[in-house]
Amino acid sequence: MLVTAVPSRISKEVGAWRGRGLRVGFVPTMGALHEGHASLIRRAVAENDRVVVSIFVNPLQFGPKEDLSRYPRPFAADAAVCRREGAAALYHPSPESMYAPGFRTRVEVEGLSELHCGASRPGHFRGVATVVLKLLNQVRPHALYLGEKDFQQLSILRRLAVDLDLGVDVVGCRLVRAPDGLALSSRNAYLSEEERRAAPALHAALRAGAREARRRGAGPASVVRAARAELARERLFRRDYLVLVDEGTLLPPPALQGKLRLLAAAWIGNTRLIDNQPVRV
Ligand code: AMP
Repeated sequence: MLVTAVPSRISKEVGAWRGRGLRVGFVPTMGALHEGHASLIRRAVAENDRVVVSIFVNPLQFGPKEDLSRYPRPFAADAAVCRREGAAALYHPSPESMYAPGFRTRVEVEGLSELHCGASRPGHFRGVATVVLKLLNQVRPHALYLGEKDFQQLSILRRLAVDLDLGVDVVGCRLVRAPDGLALSSRNAYLSEEERRAAPALHAALRAGAREARRRGAGPASVVRAARAELARERLFRRDYLVLVDEGTLLPPPALQGKLRLLAAAWIGNTRLIDNQPVRV
């Protein structure tokens, strides 16, 4: 497995693969890899000839009071996961090489970036869109693998790929959970034992909403009410948002019709967790 921090090195390697007619898949991450990330790498390996994984804790997508400096960075263990899952290259650029002095450009996906997580984390999705566009330009893959764990991010990056004619296939991958239902996340490492025990309540709340949607007489408001009520039963959680949206627009649906999804973010202690659940009527 090639391990490099140098943008021109990864571009050259992928360029050589493409020149030989090989199909290249790309899995961007912030590291602290878990089974959710591993499932993306496995799918990319199954569907491509070569897979590049990137690890970059992107300063541009963290707010001034967020966890940039304490975000976990277990590099050796991450490299072992990439190797085990069959990645051909691990690209781990430095913040200095990504954002050279004088860097001024930002990418904004309007209308989707301001909602939900974007409302609580101003500038977050601008940082995400900017770094993903840069990574795609450096790596130049055929296919981009992203998790449904970050459902809003997936929607925004799909839009980016279409709007800017990126010519990359965006592949959304299933959300991987712990056996008790908690969505796997690098941030779960922040949880105390007590918080970890309480954390599956977020998923349980979304499932309660999805159940309500199957009840005769249910509507968008009753679905959201049921999910919020269930979440409120776990005193350790403080809701950031919990909404029912149309999967295409990320806006509240007028009725329980079409492809809908519950999206939520909630604080448990000092840790902000996100989750989502499809709602099929
Ligand atoms: P991150 O390292 O958190 O930036 O995540 C990198 C990629 O892995 C993103 O596309 C995430 O959506 C995806 N991912 C993270 N956690 C999970 C999970 N539990 N299941 C599926 N995909 C995930």
